[in-house]
Amino acid sequence: MGVKFDKDEFKKSVADNLKVLYRKTVDEADKQQIFQAVSYSVKDIIMDRWLATQKTYEKEDVRTVVYMSMEFLMGRALGNNMINLTVYKDIKEALDEMGLDLNVIEDQEPDAALGNGGLGRLAACFLDSLATLGYPAYGCGIRYRYGMFKQQIKDGYQIEVPDNWLKDGNPFEIKRPEYSYEVKFGGYVRCYKDEDGRDKFVQEDYRSVIAVPYDMPVVGYGNNVVNTLIIWDAEPVNTFNLESFNKGDYHKAIEQENLAKNIVEVLYPNDNHYAGKELRLKQQYFFVSASIQRAIAKYKKTNSDIRKFHEKYVFQLNDTHPTVTVAELMRILMDEEGLNWEEAWEVTTHCCAYTNHTIMAEALEKWPIELFSRLLPRVYQIVEEINRRFVEELKVKYPGNQDKIRKMAVIYDGQVKMANLAIVAGFSVNGVAKLHTEILEKQELKDFYEMFPEKFNNKTNGITQRRFLLHGNPLLADWITGKIGDDWITDLSHLSRLKVYVDDEKCQREFMQIKYQNKLRLAKYIKENNGVEVDPRSVFDVQVKRLHEYKRQLLNILHVMYLYNQLKANPDLDIPAQTFIFGAKAAAGYKIAKLINNVADVINNDPAIKGRLKVVFIENYRVSNAEIIFAAADVSEQISTASKEASGTGNMKFMLNGALTLGTMDGANVEIVQEVGEDNAVIFGLTSDEVIRYENEGGYDPMEIFNNDQDVRTVLMQLINGEYCRENPEMFRDIYNSLLHNDGGRRADTYFILKDFRAYADAHRKMLDKYKDEKGWAKSAMLNVACAGKFSSDRTIEEYVRDIWKLDKVKVEVSDED
Ligand SMILES: *Cc1c(COP(=O)(O)O)cnc(C)c1O
Repeated sequence: MGVKFDKDEFKKSVADNLKVLYRKTVDEADKQQIFQAVSYSVKDIIMDRWLATQKTYEKEDVRTVVYMSMEFLMGRALGNNMINLTVYKDIKEALDEMGLDLNVIEDQEPDAALGNGGLGRLAACFLDSLATLGYPAYGCGIRYRYGMFKQQIKDGYQIEVPDNWLKDGNPFEIKRPEYSYEVKFGGYVRCYKDEDGRDKFVQEDYRSVIAVPYDMPVVGYGNNVVNTLIIWDAEPVNTFNLESFNKGDYHKAIEQENLAKNIVEVLYPNDNHYAGKELRLKQQYFFVSASIQRAIAKYKKTNSDIRKFHEKYVFQLNDTHPTVTVAELMRILMDEEGLNWEEAWEVTTHCCAYTNHTIMAEALEKWPIELFSRLLPRVYQIVEEINRRFVEELKVKYPGNQDKIRKMAVIYDGQVKMANLAIVAGFSVNGVAKLHTEILEKQELKDFYEMFPEKFNNKTNGITQRRFLLHGNPLLADWITGKIGDDWITDLSHLSRLKVYVDDEKCQREFMQIKYQNKLRLAKYIKENNGVEVDPRSVFDVQVKRLHEYKRQLLNILHVMYLYNQLKANPDLDIPAQTFIFGAKAAAGYKIAKLINNVADVINNDPAIKGRLKVVFIENYRVSNAEIIFAAADVSEQISTASKEASGTGNMKFMLNGALTLGTMDGANVEIVQEVGEDNAVIFGLTSDEVIRYENEGGYDPMEIFNNDQDVRTVLMQLINGEYCRENPEMFRDIYNSLLHNDGGRRADTYFILKDFRAYADAHRKMLDKYKDEKGWAKSAMLNVACAGKFSSDRTIEEYVRDIWKLDKVKVEVSDED
């Protein structure tokens, strides 16, 4: 059911677009213009399918999931759209004939970096899977003017450069001003009785903005389905409605203009961390309110009874960020659709489902009542009433138990607790890996699990193989298809059929040759972008993910320092050459990037170790270079403190590309090892139970390790003796102190780095021993690919559909194949 592709027509279309858009010929146009023209030609192919899909949904009046997320880390669209239209190779050929290089064209596209890391990328993978599986779905998010900052490294420090991703125009988006909605902030609530004597509530003296949607196509693989990602822009209300100016309220008009400008200005660059900023709550309510208004308007086009809204719509809340959804839906159902509380509650509690992404205290969203009620006065009244009723229930169920109220109330101690609101008003609460869900049920959300066991379920995360194998690793994708056919593209469990080849020496050589080619490609990227020469024959040991204390990049770099000491002391040490590759953006102020870069500087320029050790920090880690990095990795570093990483998805991308996991028993690592077998990964360190036990006991004593382990002591002393910072030996004093000394409420070595250090060093030794056995390694690497089937986001989505969303698959016919 692929797209009928006419090469000559496509070539003509590109030339026509260049003429219409830029008045240029192919020879005259620059690379960005070529990218734009090619994208418009691809969009043309998409358009008929997009129309047909939406027509089909309307005609069949389908049940739909709305994936509500503050973040969609989409990456580049052009290559992915061509892949999913199944015209990638055709277009590559057509462009070749025009003298154009598709790789160069793809490189002109800025990443749509509307997300921080895993949570945003998960949303993007889910959209891809939903479209590919043919489920009625759309995403709702924010069209940030500036996405995730671009990272430059200067003198070893991270510099944050604004990401003006829309500056050349976004060829795939379509503005839909006809579906704009007003969103109101502030003012006060006026209460009155209507003719029937019922209480009515209206917000008065508010400031408002107009939410304007932009649609982005989400192309399913080879099935004619094109779903939509709606991202909301904000425009000032006064260009829409000049009333304020007419009344001479100049001040209010300017305020509203600024509100619109600020609200979508920038993505907060926080990953697993809550900052509590007023503008952030405005962003949340802005996109939530607009998205619900849109869903209700769509529903009412084909349905008359708003009491049955939940039969056609389900909202999946990606973390607590969109949790105000439950109160806004209540507000609209009552204040605008005329339902009473019980009717509105019945709909809402059948509409909303919540995904928990973290147990880390600093990530839990709590809004001060003062802020929340000032910004959203009517919504706050509703939250208060939800809380009042819930606390009544608690008092009946647990008489005299104030502790339950303290832990479970939606409003407590002056704060609105968003996770509690999501759990109380939602019908489903899911964790994102087996271990994570168990920890939620047994520890973090124990009280809620006891009260509502039927709401809790697990949905282990996944990734889309269309982007992270088919597009990112074409050599391996073609090799796999040559061996087992291409069914894996839409059903990743087929990869298990590769198992019959893992002992075949010719297959092993082919497989390792592909890995080598991919390492060459990454080495070239590193040379061009970082100016560092790396040996493609060395072990590529990679840790790419957001910089975060719990992810323990510090453990990794301390171990590199230790290895360097070993190599200096014993130049004949019989270990393979290794390249340690880091890539990560940090929340501002975290100094670890500086340490990694300084260590890299010293090691990479020390002739004494003869190039046996290299350290590279890849600047500006993002989806587009991630695709290249995963394909080239030998070792996947997944070393978070056990219990802290809810799932991880980077771990799955590495596995799919044939890297061996070196990791802790955390998040989805547990399930990865279960699938691939203990011999084909290296696991080390404290278990989550051990970590939690230490935490409950108030920590452990790192000084004992410092005093008894000479190697650890040497490495720590090098943090403060100028070894890695001649001009300022105090540079890394903070890091040193954080590992050894309590500081106020903060425990020494909060993330058990020294506690796990020896086990980590041993794990590395074990990994290198495996690497020395060439055939054994090839077999293990191949088995990682062969056992990665479970980690497709297609599997994850099928589970969400079965247990939570209850959607039906749709078939889309496109009559006109051109
Ligand atoms: C997959 C991905 C992540 C998430 O990685 P983790 O290792 O699971 O934290 C973050 N950023 C990008 C660009 C990704 O592709």
